[in-house]
Amino acid sequence: MTTTTAKGSALSLTDFYDVESLYSSEERLIQSSVREYVRSEILPHVGEWWQEGFFPPELARSFGELGALGVTLPERYGGAGASYSAYGLVCREIEYVDSGMRSFVSVQSSLVMFPIHAYATEEVKLEWLPRLASGEAVGCFGLTEPDAGSDPGAMRTRCRKVGDEWVINGVKRWITSGSRADVAVVWARDEGSGKVLGFVVPTATEGFQAVDIKTKASMRASVTSELYLDDVVVPERYRLQVEGLRGPLSCLNQARFGIAFGVMGAAQACFDEAVAYVSDRPAFGEPLAAKQIVQERLADMLSEITKGSLLAYRLGRLKEEGKDHPARVSLAKRDNCRSALSVARAARDLLGGNGITTEYAAIRHMLNLETVATYEGTDTVHTLVLGREITGHNAF
Ligand SMILES: Cc1cc2nc3c(=O)[nH]c(=O)nc-3n(C[C@H](O)[C@H](O)[C@H](O)COP(=O)(O)OP(=O)(O)OC[C@H]3O[C@@H](n4cnc5c(N)ncnc54)[C@H](O)[C@@H]3O)c2cc1C
Repeated sequence: MTTTTAKGSALSLTDFYDVESLYSSEERLIQSSVREYVRSEILPHVGEWWQEGFFPPELARSFGELGALGVTLPERYGGAGASYSAYGLVCREIEYVDSGMRSFVSVQSSLVMFPIHAYATEEVKLEWLPRLASGEAVGCFGLTEPDAGSDPGAMRTRCRKVGDEWVINGVKRWITSGSRADVAVVWARDEGSGKVLGFVVPTATEGFQAVDIKTKASMRASVTSELYLDDVVVPERYRLQVEGLRGPLSCLNQARFGIAFGVMGAAQACFDEAVAYVSDRPAFGEPLAAKQIVQERLADMLSEITKGSLLAYRLGRLKEEGKDHPARVSLAKRDNCRSALSVARAARDLLGGNGITTEYAAIRHMLNLETVATYEGTDTVHTLVLGREITGHNAF
C-alpha cells in the first residue's frame, strides 16, 4: 500500500497510529484493491467530472466488478460476505477520491440493497440484489421531500391499497442517483393505517419520473434528482416487511456508519495535498512547511484524521459485536464530518489562490463535505440525538 512517511521519521503520515494493522488481512486486502483501482482509474479524471457536473454511468459496473457494492451481503445475493469494517474501509478509499463516488456506493449498498435484503421477500431479493451487486442495475432511496428533510415524519407522499396493489403519489427531493436508477426504494404514508411503509419501485413503472437538480455547488460528480410519483402502482410483493420510521431510519444508520469512515478518506486526501504543497511552495525565503503556524495547522489536521480513524475503527468493531447503537453512529458521523470539514478548509487555505481551483482537490472535497455534513442527518440532528441520549429530553 502507498504510504507517505513523515520527514525525518519512520512514522506514516497516511496511518500515523498504525490503525490499519488492527484490521484483518481480508479487510486490508479489500481496502488495498479498492485503493489501487480508484486512485489509478478515477482520481485522474474526477476533477474534470466534478467541474462538468457528471457521473460516468459505466462506473456502476466498475464498482460492481470491484466488489464494492453490497460488501457485507451474503455471496448468494452477489455480495462479498465481508465485515462492516471492510465496508467502511471501502467507503474511506472511495471518498479519498470524491464524496460523490462514495455517495453512489453508499446509496446502492446501504440505502437500497440493505432494505431489500432486510425487508423484502426471498423472490424480490433474488430479483434485484445480484443485479444491484454487479452494477447492472442502479438503485436510489426516496425519503426526503421538498418539505420534509430532518423531519421525515412530515412526509406527504401517500400510498393506498387497492386490491393486491399499492398506489403511490408524492414528490421526493434530493435523491442521489434518482434519474439513473432502475429501482427506487420509496417511503410513503399509508392512507389507511397512517403508518410509513416502504416499497421497491421499478423506475420504468408508469407515473414515475425523475428530474435532475442542476444547480449544485457541491457533490457535482453525483446525480441528484427529484422524483415524481403520480399514481404509481406496485404489487403487494414489492412492499417491504417493515412499518413506521424504523424502516428508513435503519437504512440511514447503515449509511451513516459508512460516512464515518468515508469522510476520513476525503480528509486524508486534503492533508496529503497540503503537505506536498507546503513542502514546495516558497514564502519569505523558505518553504511554507518551515513556518511555525503552517506546522501547527498540519499537526491539527493529522490529529483530526488520527482520532477520526480510531473512532471509525472502534465503531466498526462495535457494529460487528452487535453494539452499534444509533447514538454511537450519530457521534461518529457528526464528529468525523466536522473533522473532515476542518481539515479540508485548512488545506484549501494553505493552498492559497491555487486552493480555489479544481486543479487541486481541496476545494472539491471541502464543498462536497458540506453535503456530507447535511445529508444522512445534519450536524444539528445528530447533536439532538446525542442530547436526547445524554439528558432523556427530546429537543427536536
Ligand atoms: C446532494 C444531496 C444528496 C442527497 N441524497 C439523498 C437521498 O439519496 N435520499 C434522500 O432521501 N435524501 C437525500 N438527501 C437529503 C438530505 O438527507 C436532507 O437534505 C437532509 O436530511 C436535511 O433536510 P433538509 O434539506 O430538508 O433540511 P431541513 O431539515 O429543512 O434543515 C434545515 C436546517 O434546519 C436545521 N434543523 C432541522 N431540525 C431542527 C431542529 N429540530 N432544531 C434545530 N435545527 C433544526 C437543520 O440542521 C438545518 O441546519 C440528499 C441531500 C443532498 C444535498
